[in-house]
Amino acid sequence: MMTENLQTLFDQAQHITFMTGAGVSTASGIPDYRSKSGLYSAKFKGLPPEYLLSHDCFVQQPEMFYDFVKENLYFPDAKPNVIHEKIAALCQSGRASLITQNIDNLDRTAGNDQVVEFHGNLYRCYCSKDGEQVDWHDYMKSMYHDTDHGIIRPDIVLYGESISESALQRSMAAIEAADLLVIVGTSFKVYPFAGLINYRQPNAKLVVVNNEPIPAGSVTAQYSGDAETFFAGLKG
Ligand SMILES: [Zn+2]
Repeated sequence: MMTENLQTLFDQAQHITFMTGAGVSTASGIPDYRSKSGLYSAKFKGLPPEYLLSHDCFVQQPEMFYDFVKENLYFPDAKPNVIHEKIAALCQSGRASLITQNIDNLDRTAGNDQVVEFHGNLYRCYCSKDGEQVDWHDYMKSMYHDTDHGIIRPDIVLYGESISESALQRSMAAIEAADLLVIVGTSFKVYPFAGLINYRQPNAKLVVVNNEPIPAGSVTAQYSGDAETFFAGLKG
């Protein structure tokens, strides 16, 4: 249930910046890959996702990387839920910004063309040999680019790779612009994402919508229930 106090914080905000994580998309049927059981199948030899999604794995074991990504990360039939939709409406009206860790494209599907995709997007793919864009449908059929046999990859930030400069700049601008920051569905332990909060205005308020407390310093209000329920009750 949305409390009056929380609604007031939203109503009084000049600019809201949302920071979202995997918990926003679980209601759309996208599991957090860290908890997916398929991970422990013999095929992946019990290797941790931090390796399977690393630059090293992509370079040294590209076939294993491809199998893992294809089987565990792509959910093309998933639909945005009320969280994506409410945030998209606020962003499109200019009242809010969104920085997401999610790579599932659901914010864009919900109509949000302002989103900062901090870790990239699975549905943008390119050939690592010639840099050419490749349709993700083609990537699902083969990991090799048909014109030059280069290895295709999704445009996501792998472990061991850096966040793009433009994503960092846009994120910092969004954080600095906010008088209300809302962190949703993330344990807030992944850096540099979690470090973005250090760029907030000294008087910016901070609301956390997550089922467990997060290490984010001075929190104005925490909502510990279901994020979908919270956003369904949010007006305006
Ligand atoms: Zn190519």
